[in-house]
Amino acid sequence: MSLAPGSTIGIIGGGQLGRMLAMAAARLGHRTIVLEPQADCPAAQVANLQIVAAYDDPAALAELASASTVVTYEFENVPVAAAETLAARVPVYPPARALEVAQDRVTEKSFLNGIGIPTAQFCPIDNDEQLTVALKKFNGSGVLKTRRLGYDGKGQRVFRNMETGGFAGASEAMGNVPLILESLVAFEREISVIAARGLDGSIAAYDPAENVHREGILRSSTLPAPIGPEAAAAAKEAAAKILSALGYVGVIGVEFFVLADGSVLANEMAPRVHNSGHWTEAACAVSQFEQHIRAVAGLPLGSPARHSDCVMENLIGDDMQKVPALLAEPDLMLHLYGKAQSRPGRKMGHFTRISRRH
Ligand code: AMP
Repeated sequence: MSLAPGSTIGIIGGGQLGRMLAMAAARLGHRTIVLEPQADCPAAQVANLQIVAAYDDPAALAELASASTVVTYEFENVPVAAAETLAARVPVYPPARALEVAQDRVTEKSFLNGIGIPTAQFCPIDNDEQLTVALKKFNGSGVLKTRRLGYDGKGQRVFRNMETGGFAGASEAMGNVPLILESLVAFEREISVIAARGLDGSIAAYDPAENVHREGILRSSTLPAPIGPEAAAAAKEAAAKILSALGYVGVIGVEFFVLADGSVLANEMAPRVHNSGHWTEAACAVSQFEQHIRAVAGLPLGSPARHSDCVMENLIGDDMQKVPALLAEPDLMLHLYGKAQSRPGRKMGHFTRISRRH
């Protein structure tokens, strides 16, 4: 059943993704209420209401449930218990199971492998001995990561030559939390697919973007990605498989490594709209944000077709100085997030340059 016009969509999380979801919801005639502890957050600036409280505050969750016809979220670290509490009272999309899978890299890779999607090899790591065994298994190299949320660049360490005794230092630097060692993938490029599944089970996948990261932060997404049709098809098929396996409703972002032989390995999935899908607002009739709102509102999905080639770039920290020059460019769509303070590493906005219309 689709949402009646004027219905309220609850959004957990008040960052720029929530802001863009709220804008898309408004364009489709819906109201939004945002749950976010930080007052005057980017999403609340454009939503109808904000509940200023922690994501797991029972009274706030009860208020959100009674004010909303459906609840969604803009970040993958929503406490699973909070999503389940809400789901007992109001539909929550994507399902809490998607959060559970995406929040732990071991659970995530086991899930992906279980439905036939290849990933890097991996081992859970809780001590030096396990690290030594796993490094041996991966020919001396690997990427040590936190299993659950890494915090600000402290979530990874690369091993290349079987350095031993690295566990204690790495573990401390990462906050003494459970870790995972992944085999070091010699990828040619990184791509992502943004895909959606509707309430009726239909699936729409946008074309893969090529993504460039620096210091762990996405810098740019380029369409089309310079990959062969087999790699593009494999990535889209993998995204569709994930959506079906989870009985998913909404937009998902799935990141992949493309190897020299054109095969793809899934790296991560984000059960939400994704930074590497921001280009869709400039190069598709229906953006990832509208697609997500359509899905959770029970409306038919829009076409993911791309009418233009384009490059999306993030504006991070001091990049805001580029804004006047960007505004002078034709065929450029600028999107700023309403953040008053710029800080190094903080995403302030993005722009998409249309390079060729089809
Ligand atoms: P992640 O936090 O998993 O998104 O990783 C951040 C970045 O580190 C990725 O975008 C890759 O550039 C790199 N990376 C992550 N995992 C691996 C891996 N197993 N092998 C090689 N590079 C990796």
